[in-house]
Amino acid sequence: MMSGKPLKVTIKERDECIGCGACWGICPEFFEENLEDGLSQILAAYRFEGDIAEGRAPETLEECVREAEEMCPVGIIHVEEDP
Ligand code: SF4
Repeated sequence: MMSGKPLKVTIKERDECIGCGACWGICPEFFEENLEDGLSQILAAYRFEGDIAEGRAPETLEECVREAEEMCPVGIIHVEEDP
């Protein structure tokens, strides 16, 4: 279901990321590898106040960010309604 509103997406416990690449494999429009530490980060265009671990996903990316949330093996990607 499309919500019609941007979604808040966080990599909440980013230090627990294992750099498996699932999220940026599934949703390269939103996630990418940080080349300094090999962990996931949010693409600059979608970051919230410049935070590499918090962003806002437009409706068009809802399906892929939710799939990344489901597939992250350590469960650190969180997709929520942005109140
Ligand atoms: S899927 Fe999870 S563990 Fe894998 S790179 Fe993305 S955030 Fe890190």
